Amino acid sequence: MQSIREYAASVRKGEIDIVEHTEKVLVECKKLHTKHHFFTTISKELALQQAHDLADRMKVGNNKGKLFGVPLSVKDCVCVEGVESTSGSKILEGYIPPFSATAVRKAVEEGAIIIGKTVQDEFGFGTFSTNVGSQYKIPLNPHNTKRVCGGSSGGSAGLTAAVSFPHLSIAESTGGSIASPASFCGVAGFTPTYGRVSRYGLIDYANSLDKIGSMGQTIDDASRLLEVMSGHDSLESTSLALPSPSLSGKEKSASLKVGLVKELFDACDDTVKAAAMKSVEKLSRDGAEVKEVSLPLNEKYGIAAYYLIAMAEASTNLAKYCGMRYGFEKELKGSFDEYFTSVRSEAFGQEAKRRVLIGTFARMSGFRDAYYLRAMKLRTKLIAEFKSVFKDVDVLAHPTMPVQAPLFEDVKSFTPLESYHIDLCTVPA
Ligand code: GLN
Repeated sequence: MQSIREYAASVRKGEIDIVEHTEKVLVECKKLHTKHHFFTTISKELALQQAHDLADRMKVGNNKGKLFGVPLSVKDCVCVEGVESTSGSKILEGYIPPFSATAVRKAVEEGAIIIGKTVQDEFGFGTFSTNVGSQYKIPLNPHNTKRVCGGSSGGSAGLTAAVSFPHLSIAESTGGSIASPASFCGVAGFTPTYGRVSRYGLIDYANSLDKIGSMGQTIDDASRLLEVMSGHDSLESTSLALPSPSLSGKEKSASLKVGLVKELFDACDDTVKAAAMKSVEKLSRDGAEVKEVSLPLNEKYGIAAYYLIAMAEASTNLAKYCGMRYGFEKELKGSFDEYFTSVRSEAFGQEAKRRVLIGTFARMSGFRDAYYLRAMKLRTKLIAEFKSVFKDVDVLAHPTMPVQAPLFEDVKSFTPLESYHIDLCTVPA
């Protein structure tokens, strides 16, 4: 398949009819969706409109854009103006954002064509995309439909793996939602450092942890999209006010010092370890210096600190969904409490309810010191542990998911705690 760079160049040169190609892309998306349920919405009208706009631009010689004509899907939690954006939740059913996220706007300015919103775990609460809102179907892994796509950006990864055309996806990760599905579907996922990409227009899960990132069929493709989305945004105060490095193109690993995180290798299945070691061997062959490093605190406390902080933040974010301001509504009946309760009982899924309860408990007066504040102190210690390891090495390497994509049958038998533990390798970063 053509790379994104080659494909965009062919469109710019007029070698590909952009409108015709977009029509074909939409037909394929519909077929794939019927079988694998990758989308929450296929944005046919918008995609065709954008394709026609690009064709018109070309007629007057304006064919600039790094993503010129590239089909782009967007995880449902990232707002696209005029296209229903529910973050995978029933409670946002019918919500049509009046503006696009900065990341989306930047991609569109470079000529990307938005083909649809991809299905995800409700508000990002999950690792397998099995916690989708009740109006959606669970996405099926394109390599084996008995297995999960991973989550929470499961639709983005499944679609990227399944399509026959060059394609990119805007994904999002709070504690692993890009790495997990990218790994389970065998595509490239790029989760940047917090602040690299503006979160303006993202439907929050946990504000201090959320990162918008990219997925593509190759690392170079995913890097290209990340480059386009990166940069400071005056609309988002936590976006980094630093120049973004160039990411795509050939990288040299010759002078890199790579730290293999011992505990995170030890936590993985043998097949996963062996696959990860193959990549590490490639780095050494290219001249990187590889040595073992250790992150014992992160292994021991990463999951606990992450889930407490993430759920505490999520529980405050979900407070605004009450059936009055956004999306899902019912007939106004009873007191406020009765109305809110009936809306939330009906429209939040089981995992969202669990997280509201745990998150609220963890930051409640009387318990805050024991849970939320302790998790925050731990976070500082976990950061310090990373900093000390980075005195010795430039980058860290370890597997992302400890197992291969699980069967739906297996996921059903996991307790919530077992599910959370699968994120062991992705939450520390
Ligand atoms: N599986 C993790 C969680 O449920 C991470 C999800 C995410 O990154 N959105 O919190």
